[in-house]
Amino acid sequence: MPDTLPPCPECASAFTYQVDALLNCPECGHEWQAGESAPALAEVRDSVGNLLADGDSVTVIKDLKVKGSSAVVKVGTKVRNIRLVDGDHDIDCKVPGIGQMGLKSQFVKKAPD
Ligand SMILES: [Zn+2]
Repeated sequence: MPDTLPPCPECASAFTYQVDALLNCPECGHEWQAGESAPALAEVRDSVGNLLADGDSVTVIKDLKVKGSSAVVKVGTKVRNIRLVDGDHDIDCKVPGIGQMGLKSQFVKKAPD
């Protein structure tokens, strides 16, 4: 079994060593999960490619029918404090006048707070 551990993601030290499933760096003391030096967080981007993050504000770029009701989220509606989630509707948020619902990132645009 080849003993080639990845360098420390914090300080790039090559002197990493493994303890069970954890890799340790003797130089800066960083420890991390083997095989997870770059955690794969799904990136969620808005309609024009801006990276979105939890807590961002967005505006809706087209009228969106609310599933199971006659309500419509109007184009231009500003939604604050979004939360990114996994799934088809990748933004969980509270829409003013409507309530908690999921939005698709392709139908929103990041808005300044
Ligand atoms: Zn290190």
